Amino acid sequence: MIDDWSEFGLDTRAVRAGQVRTAEGEHSEALFLTSSFVFDSAAEAAARFSGQIEGNVYSRFTNPTVRTFEKRLAALEGGERCIATSSGMAAILTTCLGLLKTGDHILASRSIFGSSVTLFDKILSRFGIQTTFVELNDRAAWETAFTPQTRLCFLETPSNPLTEIVDLRQMADLVHAHNALLVVDNCFCSPALQQPLKWGADIVIHSATKYLDGQGRCLGGAIVGAESLLGGDIYSVLRSSGASLSPFNAWVFLKGLETLTLRMKAHSANGLALAQWLETQPSVNKVYYPGLASHPQHELAKRQQSGFGGLVSFEVKGGREVAWRIIDNTRLISITANLGDTKTTITHPASTTHGRISPVQREAANITEGLLRVSVGLEDITDIQTDLARGLGKTT
Ligand SMILES: *Cc1c(COP(=O)(O)O)cnc(C)c1O
Repeated sequence: MIDDWSEFGLDTRAVRAGQVRTAEGEHSEALFLTSSFVFDSAAEAAARFSGQIEGNVYSRFTNPTVRTFEKRLAALEGGERCIATSSGMAAILTTCLGLLKTGDHILASRSIFGSSVTLFDKILSRFGIQTTFVELNDRAAWETAFTPQTRLCFLETPSNPLTEIVDLRQMADLVHAHNALLVVDNCFCSPALQQPLKWGADIVIHSATKYLDGQGRCLGGAIVGAESLLGGDIYSVLRSSGASLSPFNAWVFLKGLETLTLRMKAHSANGLALAQWLETQPSVNKVYYPGLASHPQHELAKRQQSGFGGLVSFEVKGGREVAWRIIDNTRLISITANLGDTKTTITHPASTTHGRISPVQREAANITEGLLRVSVGLEDITDIQTDLARGLGKTT
């Protein structure tokens, strides 16, 4: 059995890492759909419970299928340890409960997932953990927002929906100079395109629900980082709070990971083709995609990422009326805020994901009424273009 996957390429790790065959000799990963495990004797039960000998006790603590998923994702991210969770939000909550206490301070990018904002701003604040939100690329704002209580910095790159990129190496240096930890939600790139730990991040968060599954089936999440950081309080919170990943979902994600690198290349190719085509459309004001030379951080994206991913946003002339017309004229593309699926999805951020923010704040953040976000799937790119062209008022 191979323990150290660092010598192997990413494609190989995605297909192979973490698998432990049982005596049955199964080729595909076994699904251990069991909540508990049995012992040979009372003495063995006692020893496993006390941790004297290693072994499975109960699937809230450990499960072989979940462990295989954890090992494979850790190998892909280049992390020592991975802890799987029941959702992406459970991964963020478990990380915060493991690392923070009352009085601690979080510094977070303003451009993060809506539920992450709610968790920090409305829920953790009730326990005396305050969060300051800053612009992702305003370095001076990050510098001045640190307090002696700042323990954790949290960001996503590329950001959603405007695909802003931040220099992870510079960010890690800044955060470490303030004795804090850098936590990066790597949902949009997945380890196939970006490995934040390599640039100095301390912890990587995943919503496995998105590209890791990649086919819109299961909810799950993960925390990846050093054993010294994850193995203590973070794992202890997971064991005792119960946000553990279901073995069935872990098995689905394992199958998802096997095609992850392949899918991300295809998502990136379709994303670039769509972004380039949108730039030629007269009714499009602006296209946000890190793979375009017109993207302000295109050079950084090329350095930091090995591909540009499947998220493309664009602003149409004519505001909400035209944006909604484009959505309502699609026949193929799914109207949903979900992303990271083989099926292309479209959403109007100003009236959905960012609908609760005040109009003034929204405009200030460039989430305009004419903005649309597409999570480009794996259909033929010409069919995706035709579907959007109908509402754009122009044929391909
Ligand atoms: C979806 C998402 C999450 C939350 O993940 P769930 O699996 O839905 O809990 C967190 N961060 C980002 C960037 C996401 O897109």
